[in-house]
Amino acid sequence: MKIPFSPPYIDDDIKREVLDTLESGWITSGPKVLALEKLVAEHTGLTHVACCNSATSGLMLLLHWYGVTRGDEVIIPAYTYAATALVVMHLGATPVMVDSGDDFNIDIAKVRDKITSKTKAIIPVDIAGWPCDYHALFDLINTPEVMAKFTPVTENQKKLGRILVLSDAAHSLGAMYANKPIGVWGDFSVFSFHAVKNVTTAEGGAMCINLPQSDFNHSEVYRTLKLWSLNGQTKDALAKTNGAGWRYDIVYPGFKMNMPDICAAIGLAQLRKYPTLMLPDRKRVAEAYVKGLANYSWAILPPIKDAERESSYHVFALRIKGITETQRDVMIERITEAGVSVNVHFQPLPILTVFREKGYQIEDYPVAFSCYATEISLPIYPQLDQDKIDYIIDAVVRAYESL
Ligand SMILES: *Cc1c(COP(=O)(O)O)cnc(C)c1O
Repeated sequence: MKIPFSPPYIDDDIKREVLDTLESGWITSGPKVLALEKLVAEHTGLTHVACCNSATSGLMLLLHWYGVTRGDEVIIPAYTYAATALVVMHLGATPVMVDSGDDFNIDIAKVRDKITSKTKAIIPVDIAGWPCDYHALFDLINTPEVMAKFTPVTENQKKLGRILVLSDAAHSLGAMYANKPIGVWGDFSVFSFHAVKNVTTAEGGAMCINLPQSDFNHSEVYRTLKLWSLNGQTKDALAKTNGAGWRYDIVYPGFKMNMPDICAAIGLAQLRKYPTLMLPDRKRVAEAYVKGLANYSWAILPPIKDAERESSYHVFALRIKGITETQRDVMIERITEAGVSVNVHFQPLPILTVFREKGYQIEDYPVAFSCYATEISLPIYPQLDQDKIDYIIDAVVRAYESL
């Protein structure tokens, strides 16, 4: 049997939606993007969501919106995908890394020590789709001593008056925290629609706006983000083609980060069936793994549901008790030989060259390292039936027993 790690979910509805775009005479940013924004807003209960061409772009644009620049610090987990750190570096600011807790997510208790007068934002990441402890995070950020350290410079920083919480929700579309969906827990939350994420547009992202309503006008923030993601141009291409409206202005040195309609069409058709079909199917797979692996004392199962949270089941991050990194690699080889593609989420950033060369040291992030060294991500997607799940579990068990 050959089992891929994360094939895209493409059915007739998705093909029809894309074909509709192709035949419409308009393929870049237009009505489908607006429809996708509206649907993400409906799913999260927000009024304003702005799409862009990747979560990476969205994170960077939002940090820029908050005025993050040279000399500033942004707190991030050491255990995440590199984009979380790179967006900070692109703006000339410094990513300040924090170790993980046992649930893979940033250890909020360790954040306090990393906050300085240069800290402008924190980017919590809901690793594998498991929500961070947002209550604990906001409690920390709102404590008087932390508030007193905050040194606002730009207009938006003065208005918010505290560290910005920019949630990297690349994994967690559909996850729940304290009875509310992910998307409403950060001041901004960014979903990724990359090909391997729970809902995809091939490449794409969505910026959810949830700033305090008392100080920020969400439709104004939305307009700014859309303007800055399209070169700072006062009219998008579609508006220019309509009627005699060819004349436009460039009012800001913006970026080119807009999402094309042809991509939005894929996401639109997927998102329509995500809550009723695709997400429950991911949950089914996760629960089948839990059931199939629960009796093995060496299997450390990832958190997927408790009284306060429910995962989006993006990654099934299995850990193996007591094994070394080398033994983990051997297990992956054996599982791969059985035809099952697995993965590792993630290599903590300090072990990657670009960060190591900047002086980050993995020894400072022992929990992140141990999460990584013992981790194997199993395939999880709607197309996996029970036969395949059983086959995968069997491959994992045999790989462990061969050690
Ligand atoms: C995938 C991912 C991103 C980047 O998403 P893109 O849409 O590919 O830019 C950012 N953060 C995390 C944690 C991710 O897994």
